[in-house]
Amino acid sequence: MILPGAVLGVLGGGQLGLMFSLAARRMGYRIMVVDPDPDAPAFAVSDRRIVGSYADPDVLSEVARSCEAVTTEFENVPAPSLAFLEKIRTVRPSSRSVGTCQDRILEKTFLRDQGFETAPFAVLLDGKLPSPDILRPLLPGILKSSREGYDGKGQWGIGSIEEMARFMEGRTGSYVLERKLDLKGEFSVVLARDQNGETALYPVAENIHASGILHVSAVPADISGSLSERISSVAREIAERLDYKGVLSVEFFLAEGDRLYVNELAPRPHNSGHYTIDACVASQFDQQVRVLAGLPLASTRLLSPCAMGNLLGDLWQDRSPPPLRTLLKHPSAKLYLYGKKVPRTGRKMGHFTVLAGSASEASQKARSLLDSLSSSCEGR
Ligand code: ADP
Ligand code: MG
Repeated sequence: MILPGAVLGVLGGGQLGLMFSLAARRMGYRIMVVDPDPDAPAFAVSDRRIVGSYADPDVLSEVARSCEAVTTEFENVPAPSLAFLEKIRTVRPSSRSVGTCQDRILEKTFLRDQGFETAPFAVLLDGKLPSPDILRPLLPGILKSSREGYDGKGQWGIGSIEEMARFMEGRTGSYVLERKLDLKGEFSVVLARDQNGETALYPVAENIHASGILHVSAVPADISGSLSERISSVAREIAERLDYKGVLSVEFFLAEGDRLYVNELAPRPHNSGHYTIDACVASQFDQQVRVLAGLPLASTRLLSPCAMGNLLGDLWQDRSPPPLRTLLKHPSAKLYLYGKKVPRTGRKMGHFTVLAGSASEASQKARSLLDSLSSSCEGR
């Protein structure tokens, strides 16, 4: 066990790194944050900061010298950097787990090989186009870059073989082409798994996306007990097959006939799990600290139905936040702003959680608060 007072390191200082740091500090740990952006939100609450690249050997040596254990806030930290740290320090999740999740080709191939159902897909390696016979059943489809995509970035709708060929002209990158599914719903599960294989699962969240970005999550998902158990047991099994240690998030699609597909994995806490801060005994960030430090997992018990709404940069104007009075005055809404200086369209600037008597009531409230924020911005 790594006891409070020790320094924990986190690679990545965005909102997830910020919330990890706050949880770690509350438990008495000291924090070192690494991020190439000097304005990264987590620097505001870190004990030590390194502004630098995750691939820089000097940065990594400094982290290995200073921290007892290291985690990451996002999947795009180079796996070789984690592998380097692993030789000297505790790293959770492992370089192998992060390596699988940071590359859609590896991730989807892993899922398929392990017998988990994914949307039908084909791999396009180094710009090479598969034969029309392989492509045809996947159209209309969504082309996704194998690396670095998030919040719908690095994705393109593809309607025909000709369109596919035109898109790939002159490109040398690697992609996954997935059939576009007729979605009945989107769900996610966050879990924590410790070094002994003990696993703690949070309830299933139901997610509404807008333009490929999470808009609202409601918990517990309004689905049958048996579907909820299926989702949870698939998530648990994926963590076992990865021999995962840390906090893992699994996104699901539900299609016609209650067919369940695994969409993608995130080797870290998840945006749809922010509700755990306000509505569970312990948050996803508390669990991240506990697994990293080798402490027992905490309870994931849900204390109240709830919903989370994302506040995107679209609501900001000239760097000033939208009118937040209605949200702030709401008796059961709690606001989080991440302190990001530059608002951009689609950038996650903050979120809020609403507690209510039921998930659908909470979801309704969250959506109406977001609608009123959008319309008050349009009126400005
Ligand atoms: P990201 O890394 O950007 O979250 P995802 O693969 O999760 O990438 O895609 C973002 C969103 O796009 C999904 O939550 C879903 O709404 C939509 N989407 C992605 N793939 C498919 C698909 N095969 N069929 C239908 N919708 C999809
Ligand atoms: Mg996703």
